[in-house]
Amino acid sequence: MKIDVLALFPEILAPALQTGILRRAQEADKLAVNVHNLRDWATDKHKSVDDYPYGGGAGMILKPGPIFSALADLNPGQTAHVIYLTPQGTPLTQALAESLSLETHLILLCGRYKGVDERVRDRLVTTEISIGDYVLSGGEIAALVLIDAIGRVLPGALGDYESAQVDSFSHELLDHPHYTRPAEFEGMQVPEVLLSGHHDNIEKWRYTEALRRTAQRRPALLQKLELTAEDIAILKAAGLTELK
Ligand code: SAM
Repeated sequence: MKIDVLALFPEILAPALQTGILRRAQEADKLAVNVHNLRDWATDKHKSVDDYPYGGGAGMILKPGPIFSALADLNPGQTAHVIYLTPQGTPLTQALAESLSLETHLILLCGRYKGVDERVRDRLVTTEISIGDYVLSGGEIAALVLIDAIGRVLPGALGDYESAQVDSFSHELLDHPHYTRPAEFEGMQVPEVLLSGHHDNIEKWRYTEALRRTAQRRPALLQKLELTAEDIAILKAAGLTELK
């Protein structure tokens, strides 16, 4: 997969792209990320990319000219999926990240100030994505969040892909609790079943904990599931049936 990022502050992305799974995915040629500075497409001597809003008011707007020129260079065949990061977009979910991981070329457009001229959205943008109901000062961090979520589910990118498949949201349940050594720490014990070596019982315990945790913390997620009689019995035992 190739990802081009168009940003006013590309330096924000560099350290994260050179670390951990994202670095390994690039080294393994599963992922190529190129971060471009929007100012490279500015045409005046001050390299300006923003201007005052028509109609007045506070804040600057990213001009259409440099963005249209950049997209003409980065997407000549117009085959890429062009994503504008904006709080007005479709909320980012695990399912959306997984479906985007199947694309071959993404272009991520990062806004700044009050955002981009509306004609960019009308003509160039395929999809708008939000990383949450809050407003960041720029799209760079939102683009990083999206790249990270996509990068770790790219087939072959994560060493132990298994572990991504059981993370929270990958099967509509939150992840179960995790423990590592020592078995006793400051008087707190690791649940006995995890020390038993009994694989079936461990899996059952993990599923039960994931179900209980989801019912307690994110009950709306359970609405999407077909609960079995056994699931309902687990929730009942935990006093959580009224949530369903
Ligand atoms: N005036 C815009 C609005 O209310 O929709 C907000 C502009 S914000 C200050 C500047 C840029 O940050 C946006 O253009 C967008 O690229 C990015 N941004 C801010 N919050 C975001 C979010 N929750 N998800 C994705 N991108 C966001």
